Amino acid sequence: MSHRSQPRQVREREPREPREPPQPREPRVARTRRELAEARATLGPGAVGAVMTMGALHAGHVRLIRKAREDNAHVVVTIFLNPLQFGPHEDLSRYPRTVDSDLDLCTREGADVVFLPTPDVIYRDGDPSVRVDAGALGAVLEGQARPGHFDGVLTVVGKLLHLTGADRAYFGQKDAQQLLLISRMVRDLDFPVQVLSVPTVREDDGLALSSRNTYLTSSDRQVALALYRALQAGASAATEGPSAVRRAARAVLVLEPLVLVDYLVLVHPWTLQDVPEWYRGEALLAVAGRVGTTRLIDNAPVVVGPGGGPREVSSIEAGVGSDGRRPEGTGQPDSAGSERRRAR
Ligand code: AMP
Repeated sequence: MSHRSQPRQVREREPREPREPPQPREPRVARTRRELAEARATLGPGAVGAVMTMGALHAGHVRLIRKAREDNAHVVVTIFLNPLQFGPHEDLSRYPRTVDSDLDLCTREGADVVFLPTPDVIYRDGDPSVRVDAGALGAVLEGQARPGHFDGVLTVVGKLLHLTGADRAYFGQKDAQQLLLISRMVRDLDFPVQVLSVPTVREDDGLALSSRNTYLTSSDRQVALALYRALQAGASAATEGPSAVRRAARAVLVLEPLVLVDYLVLVHPWTLQDVPEWYRGEALLAVAGRVGTTRLIDNAPVVVGPGGGPREVSSIEAGVGSDGRRPEGTGQPDSAGSERRRAR
């Protein structure tokens, strides 16, 4: 090898010019059923993950999209403000609409398709005369405060599962009752889809992210933190049993009279029935309240009993157990239900 070859070799080993990071590709935006079907047809082989939203996207939605991205070859995000799940006096007309920034976010996060229908695309003949009935689990907690809400949610989720042809669908633990009901629907009605959940994404100070947080004034926002503090206080009393959890959470809320508490409950995570005092195991501490003009919900999965405390929720297959089993030590829901009472 001649010595003249040396520099050439060195030059050949020099690092290549750094490549521009790949530009995020704009998702295909489908506004009609036909456009969605066409966009779906271009996706090629591999699993499709769906993330269903009402828009005004934030870091909670991002978490769902990223999880869907990790698990699937393709991601479809739906943005649809579903009138069917809003009561006549609820906030449908003032719900934040931020389509342009939502589409930017979907581009950044690598969604392949965004389905952005109007109500007449989803409900071709007006309000559907046949709907999914959420049953008893849909009549408590949020369902009691918002009659018909979960029938509307399940009806649209069912339709969107069909229209997107998703193999997996992702929902947030933030809306624990919704997550449970969707898991139940998929199981009870044999939808060929896997439901997965992601943990609640919070601000640094603990406030759960929600599109509705934009309604809060800065003082409302401070008041709203009491919901999170109550959940934390309850969870940290979990080793002492259910009434200690309820007492600790309630003690925080009574100090913040500007939160008009709708419910504060410690319930079984699959039956939503209050857990009785002897209960040990997984439970859900859930709270809903009004701050100013805004109704907020939040929850904390906890383990009650020795060694208990807040239960870490990683991304999990959601719901009722793929084989329908209860986790050990969860007791019978009816015994809990018979002594149902509000913790407030
Ligand atoms: P929404 O647009 O409010 O209907 O929410 C769409 C999805 O995002 C639902 O599965 C919600 O549970 C989920 N989600 C909303 N807020 C959060 C949050 N803070 N953390 C995790 N998931 C969330």
